[in-house]
Amino acid sequence: MKILLVNPPVYDFALHDFWLKPFGLLRIAAKLREQNIPFYFFDFLYKYDRRLLKIWTPKVDKYGRGKFYSVEVEKPEILSFVPRKFRRFGLPLEYLKEDVSGEHFDFVFITTGMTYWYIGVKEIIDFARKMWPRTRIVVGGVAATLMPDFYKTLGADIVVIRDDFSSLKKFGLELNIETNDFPDYSVYEKIDYVAIRLVEGCPYRCSYCASYLLKPEIRFADVRALADYIEQWYYRQGVRDFVFYDDALLVNAKKNLKLLKDLLDDKKITGKIRFHTPNALHVRYIDEKVAGLLKEMGFETIYLGVETTNPERLKETGGKLTLEEFKKAIISLKKAGFKNDQITAYLLMGLPNQPPEEVISGLEILKEYNIRVMLSEYSPIPRTPLGEGAIKEYKIKDPILTNCSVFPVMQYGIQTVNYLKNIKNEILRSLKFDA
Ligand code: SF4
Repeated sequence: MKILLVNPPVYDFALHDFWLKPFGLLRIAAKLREQNIPFYFFDFLYKYDRRLLKIWTPKVDKYGRGKFYSVEVEKPEILSFVPRKFRRFGLPLEYLKEDVSGEHFDFVFITTGMTYWYIGVKEIIDFARKMWPRTRIVVGGVAATLMPDFYKTLGADIVVIRDDFSSLKKFGLELNIETNDFPDYSVYEKIDYVAIRLVEGCPYRCSYCASYLLKPEIRFADVRALADYIEQWYYRQGVRDFVFYDDALLVNAKKNLKLLKDLLDDKKITGKIRFHTPNALHVRYIDEKVAGLLKEMGFETIYLGVETTNPERLKETGGKLTLEEFKKAIISLKKAGFKNDQITAYLLMGLPNQPPEEVISGLEILKEYNIRVMLSEYSPIPRTPLGEGAIKEYKIKDPILTNCSVFPVMQYGIQTVNYLKNIKNEILRSLKFDA
């Protein structure tokens, strides 16, 4: 048996390598390796492919973030009202063809990310079908879990929901992915960072978020195993940047993160590695003790999910924080030694029925804290309460319209969207960060 694992190209207006790795697919790779099942791994978003390096030079910042290789492509007609260029992000299809021609695979596994990135998924399904008409094409991951019926219509034979691979048993493949199955980054020749996860799931149920649909239960990885894993990647490849993909890293932080810190101290790694939290930390759980722990462990960038400063909307959408808690968290972080430009607050823009004035007011309130602010453009996620409401209200039939670069334009119009982004940029320029 041989399996092809593919992280497909992405068709979108923009895509930045904000520590983006196909976490689930890399865990499958680890499992297959453990079971001695041969596989070939192809990540279209890999930046260091030798063929690519002849035509393009990757640029990454000190933490491993950077641009992906991309080419401009024709914009689908349905997106013609968005005055931005449309691009295909990822390696040319020819590279995959070159790598696998003459090979036979029993399964092709294709992972999915955002629900509106289906064009790239379809490209790989069509390619695989043409290359190996009898091979089973399996689609899994975030988008497939949220929209299994839609992803089936793209031509997949099997759609895997969450980590449930039981439908593959009858074809002779048993895969049980557990919380302690960590990704196998050895499929890459070069890596800038390693994504990890300590806590699966989230105790909150914010109405715009799909976390509970993807991971309905809270599960903790084995802290000792995670510490060993970090040690291995630090010593094996000199990886310095470790990126937590957790939605709720700070749940039980005083016990679990503290234990992780102690173990890394024992291994003499603390101070040599850096941690990042792009999925945002829960503001509510940050007190002086937790902030101190984060600082001592080497957390380098802190992202906080604020989303809106309208107290009513905060409550309505799930009540994960209050502005008072936010204030306390910022005071604790600064007291622990975090510099202003190490802290970023996410603010949502374009929530259904959210007037642009609310976004402006949020930007002004956050400005007072002298920290970084990022505007997250809202994307209606299928099967979430807010997402379903928006999809109905705007009569969205094609998931591509739920793209975060598209939906706020449908709501506000491009001028208002650009106006809000300009205000955010002006605020960032006006902030004075410590040297
Ligand atoms: S707290 Fe964050 S991860 Fe949890 S449901 Fe809300 S938005 Fe999602």
